[in-house]
Amino acid sequence: MAYVVTQSCCSDASCVVACPVNCIHPAPGEPGFAEAEMVFIDAETCVGCGACVTACPVGAIVPDTRLREDQRAFVDLAAEYYDVFPHRDRTPVALVPRQRRLRRPGPFRVAVVGAGPAGLYAADELLKHPEIDVEVFERLDVPHGLARFGVAADHVETRRVARLFEQITAQPGLRLHLGVEVGRDVTPEELETRFDAVVHATGAPADRRLGVPGDSLPGVLGATALAEWSNAHPARRDLAAELVAVDGGRAVVIGAGNVALDAARLLVGPMVGAREVLVLGRRGVDAAAFTTPELVGLVGLADPSRPDPVDVLLESGPAPVPEPFPAPGSGVRSRLLTELAQRRPAPGRPRIVLRFDSPVTEVTGGDRARGVRLADGSVVETDLVVGAIGQDWAPVAHQRGRVRPGVYVTGWAKRGPTGFLGTNKACAQETVGALLDDLDAGLGTASSPHAHPSRRVRGLLTGRNSR
Ligand SMILES: Cc1cc2nc3c(=O)[nH]c(=O)nc-3n(C[C@H](O)[C@H](O)[C@H](O)COP(=O)(O)OP(=O)(O)OC[C@H]3O[C@@H](n4cnc5c(N)ncnc54)[C@H](O)[C@@H]3O)c2cc1C
Ligand code: SF4
Ligand code: SF4
Repeated sequence: MAYVVTQSCCSDASCVVACPVNCIHPAPGEPGFAEAEMVFIDAETCVGCGACVTACPVGAIVPDTRLREDQRAFVDLAAEYYDVFPHRDRTPVALVPRQRRLRRPGPFRVAVVGAGPAGLYAADELLKHPEIDVEVFERLDVPHGLARFGVAADHVETRRVARLFEQITAQPGLRLHLGVEVGRDVTPEELETRFDAVVHATGAPADRRLGVPGDSLPGVLGATALAEWSNAHPARRDLAAELVAVDGGRAVVIGAGNVALDAARLLVGPMVGAREVLVLGRRGVDAAAFTTPELVGLVGLADPSRPDPVDVLLESGPAPVPEPFPAPGSGVRSRLLTELAQRRPAPGRPRIVLRFDSPVTEVTGGDRARGVRLADGSVVETDLVVGAIGQDWAPVAHQRGRVRPGVYVTGWAKRGPTGFLGTNKACAQETVGALLDDLDAGLGTASSPHAHPSRRVRGLLTGRNSR
């Protein structure tokens, strides 16, 4: 029996370290790891010990004997990867670096702003040093950022990452302040005078606007806002009124990344009840940004054994031309797209239709969005327009996460809105490395933080907006 990595993998590489026979790749430091959509287990070498299953925070690894029919593509994906990158050396990799130790005696106190994945991975790295205490400030009343409010509700396995974050926040040495917005309830400068270092992990603020006429009409919303509504984000309750219009009707999703597919599944699902969702990609199908694992999941939606099967169709555009030197996974991707292009709709089922080479030039309608105009002049009528073209993000100048000694940045606030949940782990490790270098060098925030014990932070928050 071999084990197989499936759709929910978020590339944090925890399993790679656990494997006694070095059969999970790409590993950190190997070519392609930084961009990898997922990692792959070599079925030829896997000894079926199950160590990786325990290590995985999102339940992505299953024995091949327990794969569902719609997950079989992951076996082919792994085989394709090892055809291109055989990784013949099976010496267990000593990937666990020796634990770094601070050279200066503590105690040190670090403030982390934002309790999303990046802030919590950074806190976890910092707490490996017994000299460091961490206080995390989160503006919402609940932690975990987009891992709670962005990740799709039907990605049940991925959402299991919450258990890892709960373990991180339960560590002694970490104090979590919920309902405290830095910049409103407490200023960054106030934190800088009370802590040896401040790490900003505030993510990327909002959905990017479509940037075409009509994009601010009622009935136009962003895909992250939609995901947040479906996950009961307190600031999104009023979206329910917008969504009534699409019950039994048609929605258009603009964009062709994973978040666009999340939005499409949500819209045809029972929470919204659209009859048809048209996903419009600006460029050709071969430029679509959704990952192959997400495509595997999408293809499986039509499985008649599901309680609520959904038709998924690829409406137009030529089948992708095979590349002369195909990237690993491109054969499976091509096969799945060809399969979608050949499907015919089943009467009565809700459907998701993917259409490429279709840039949108305008959202039409007077009082609210009623359609989208495409570059060829045609208009697609719709009851709702969802923009899934990424997040706005203001870059911050930094080196390895260091904005200046004592002030750091990590996660989406540092890299922009790219990568997977696990990508924020390596990102936080880099930032914390720069922070530890500065602590060792005696560089930090300008003031003397040891004069301000923790109760002074609580005193600072008393009477302000904190809970
Ligand atoms: C819709 C959507 C779906 C996604 N689905 C997946 C998926 O299925 N799998 C996957 O691997 N990745 C997924 N991602 C990507 C993943 O969510 C991100 O990589 C990750 O959340 C980024 O972490 P972050 O901590 O940098 O930002 P965030 O998750 O945004 O966290 C930032 C935190 O900072 C807080 N904050 C902001 N400003 C302040 C302030 N001034 N004071 C205090 N607190 C503040 C915010 O409230 C938030 O809790 C998805 C992303 C989106 C948008
Ligand atoms: S089951 Fe064991 S041998 Fe197989 S990939 Fe997981 S850790 Fe490695
Ligand atoms: S999520 Fe992490 S531990 Fe799980 S399979 Fe992917 S890389 Fe391995």
